[in-house]
Amino acid sequence: MKITSLAGGIGGARFLRGLTQSEKVTRNVDVTVIANTGDDIWVHGVRVCPDLDTVMYTLGGGISAERGWGREGETFTAKEELAIYGVEPTWFGLGDKDLATHLIRTTSLNAGYPLSEVTQALCDRWEPGVHLIPMTDQRCETHVVVDHPETGARIAMHFQEWWIRYGAQLPAHEFIQVGLDQAQPAPGVIDAIMNADLILLPPSNPVVSIGTILAIPGVHDAIRNTPAPVIGLSPIINNAPVRGMADACLSAINVETSAVSVARHYGSRSSGGILDYWLIDHSDSDSLAEIEDLGISARAIPLLMTDIDAAGAMANSALDLVHAN
Ligand code: GDP
Ligand code: CA
Repeated sequence: MKITSLAGGIGGARFLRGLTQSEKVTRNVDVTVIANTGDDIWVHGVRVCPDLDTVMYTLGGGISAERGWGREGETFTAKEELAIYGVEPTWFGLGDKDLATHLIRTTSLNAGYPLSEVTQALCDRWEPGVHLIPMTDQRCETHVVVDHPETGARIAMHFQEWWIRYGAQLPAHEFIQVGLDQAQPAPGVIDAIMNADLILLPPSNPVVSIGTILAIPGVHDAIRNTPAPVIGLSPIINNAPVRGMADACLSAINVETSAVSVARHYGSRSSGGILDYWLIDHSDSDSLAEIEDLGISARAIPLLMTDIDAAGAMANSALDLVHAN
């Protein structure tokens, strides 16, 4: 069975680990992951791809279990040294082991290789067990329009500065993908969507992870038009994100933080949207009828990824929907 999944960082990676590694998933699956690169940033001369690396490290067994990003057993000597020099940004969490990945990536990009090929080369070491592709090979980074914290002037800052330095506390007026006009889907992206047996949207941030990938020209249309069923899992439980600040992203695009509102935002494929099915947490089961009214089949199941098997059970529920139909 060929499964294609879009993915951000932690939510996407943990779900995919359940899908590919859990004892609760027994079917043979061949998984392609299209990862968000809107979070990418150049820091201290190196290119960092947080979501690609979170997926690669999580599936490859190198992720920090506690932080959910970066490497297990990480040290931050280079970051501390850079801070002593007084070089900005000092707020970005650049780990020493992680730095090796960024150095190789940057060297390869500078030698002219596209990000998709560089990612494949990095995966030779990590063996994530999926085919991992960036959404695009072009630089296309998310910026956030906010009021300057001191002057009040309307400015745009890089998504990472807004998310990490300001903890998403500065009210966002808008998200802008700088470079979107030049961006094309990376090789294999559209094929993977059109030739899949199933499309999965894991519980990733609907705005700055899934939304960013969908904005790449051709991707939204491919998901609307693929013969494969499209199943999404809600990152919102009980009107709140499980982790992170997705609520701050949703309010910027005038979407309420609820499982129903995210389903409405994605829309049903029968009405020009992208969802056939939407899985919500059992604690939100009151919303099932409202989601069905949108033309989206809904089920309520446990959606907390407390461990690999819990994530695997979620994946299994998604696969069962396809087999039942
Ligand atoms: P990021 O790039 O690291 O922010 O990761 P993603 O975009 O892939 O995922 C972030 C989203 O994952 C957040 O909106 C969380 O609410 C969601 N999330 C994290 N853990 C869980 C979980 O255990 N269950 C569900 N349903 N969502 C989760
Ligand atoms: Ca991310």
